[in-house]
Amino acid sequence: LFSRETRPEDTRVKVRQAVFGDGPLLIAGPCAIESEEQMQRTAEFLASRGVKVLRGGAYKPRTSPYAFQGLGVEGLKLGRAAADRHGMAFVTEVMDTRDVEVVSEYADILQVGARNMQNFALLREVGRSGQPVLLKRGLSATVEEWFYAAEYVLSQGNDQVILVERGIRTYEKWTRNTLDLSGAVLAKQLTHLPVVVDVTHAAGRIDLLAPLARAALAAGVDAVHVEVHPNPKVAMSDNNQQMDFAQFDAFLDAVRDLLEPAKTR
Ligand code: PEP
Ligand code: MN
Repeated sequence: LFSRETRPEDTRVKVRQAVFGDGPLLIAGPCAIESEEQMQRTAEFLASRGVKVLRGGAYKPRTSPYAFQGLGVEGLKLGRAAADRHGMAFVTEVMDTRDVEVVSEYADILQVGARNMQNFALLREVGRSGQPVLLKRGLSATVEEWFYAAEYVLSQGNDQVILVERGIRTYEKWTRNTLDLSGAVLAKQLTHLPVVVDVTHAAGRIDLLAPLARAALAAGVDAVHVEVHPNPKVAMSDNNQQMDFAQFDAFLDAVRDLLEPAKTR
């Protein structure tokens, strides 16, 4: 079902003001939802820059069980309220089949994170929800495994799947992960689904975000995903890789020519 051979035309995923597959978009927001003020300030800023899709995690897949795990339902409410107030769509991760229903209540798009890419029960459940799904490529997943993960969602009768390349694990240590641009291009060529490149989790460092986003957009992906936080130094997760507002403005300036026409950003 994922293959372009079964469906030659691009699948578009329309979520509020944003249409994935109809000109380049940005997805932006903090790694984790931390407070009402953080979400309101971030949404207000991003909306003022034309960003239509707000991200933020309420359920966080953390390496240590003792690290901040997210605000749960309280976080979902804060994300939804901030998005609504600024006319944005809201995407957030769901980690557990038991939470698909409540996350669907608040989010426009359900994110399946890299660590859950082959959680087949979760893939089926988000498929059954009928909600748009943002499916991240697994940490060490091949392109084929990524497409078959999408197949689990599609096979439930849900064709609203957006594929995200977010970097894969390699031996390289100077970046958090290695952006597999070939994988993103293969996803565009071999599937009919919209493709996003998450430069933040791929690079894990701010100085590479604009060049990688330029490369991804030039290669024809449908959206770029970045993390933005009002004060990354005090963020409760991923604080080395989130941009502050001034850094986001510089990033936007550096990629603007590839995002135009601005109305589709
Ligand atoms: C995230 O988007 O915050 C996240 C945890 O990403 P990934 O699943 O790609 O690591
Ligand atoms: Mn993150």
